[in-house]
Amino acid sequence: MAAALVVVFDFDKTIIEWDSDNWVVTKLGATDAFNRLRPTMSWTPLMDRMMGELHEQGKSAEDIRQCLRSAPLDAHVISAIRTASALGCDLKVVSDANAFFIETVLEHHGILGCFSEINTNPARVDSDGRLRISPFHDPASSPHGCSLCPENMCKGKIIERIQATDSAKNKHFIYIGDGKGDYCPSLKLREGDYVMPKENYPLWNLITSNKQLLKAEVHAWNTGEGLERILLQLVNKLITPPAQVTQVDYKCEISNPVSKEVGHHQTLPVPN
Ligand SMILES: [Mg+2]
Ligand SMILES: [Zn+2]
Repeated sequence: MAAALVVVFDFDKTIIEWDSDNWVVTKLGATDAFNRLRPTMSWTPLMDRMMGELHEQGKSAEDIRQCLRSAPLDAHVISAIRTASALGCDLKVVSDANAFFIETVLEHHGILGCFSEINTNPARVDSDGRLRISPFHDPASSPHGCSLCPENMCKGKIIERIQATDSAKNKHFIYIGDGKGDYCPSLKLREGDYVMPKENYPLWNLITSNKQLLKAEVHAWNTGEGLERILLQLVNKLITPPAQVTQVDYKCEISNPVSKEVGHHQTLPVPN
């Protein structure tokens, strides 16, 4: 089944409740080194360095994996991801965390297979067993040239790449995020697209400070429950095939929320 629409998720503070980098640094005891080096280093090299710090402290990649498995994730967000995927949406992650962290968390919660792509900073465990994190765009060899974004990643460039793919042609996009780095991709969204910023977080502040700059429709959320409700309302609205709508009273479409049970969504209520 061809995807009806593309749903793009940020990861930190959107899919998971915390920032995954801060979670690992705090829980595994690298806070002192982090605070000492933060003023002198940009984020991705700093996180790579923190992984070196943990390695020196005798923490293995498996310890980091265990730590990530304990990071809290709202059950509503898991349910929203499962349902949107079951309804035929093409789900993607665009994140400034890293592949090791994201894959570990999504796999642990059984939702890795819901996503067709994870766009993030590459990560690998080297021959010493140390986790290495490298930038998505190498600022030295391939600078992205966007002044809104950190040097290692322009999420707007990633959205433009996805928009240009055959499978995304003429599809509506829904973008869900919280951070400053989610603003550039929000500006790339087109008419008929939607952005779901987390209320009172940097993305929401940037959007609300000048709404005219966005072509996408804005739907704010502030809890996992809200994220699920709003996302599934939008999905339900966008994927309802017009042929089915004409078979029932039009008002039924509005009062036909997406069922949380996978597979039941196609069953429209019998009109009275
Ligand atoms: Mg975030
Ligand atoms: Zn950018």
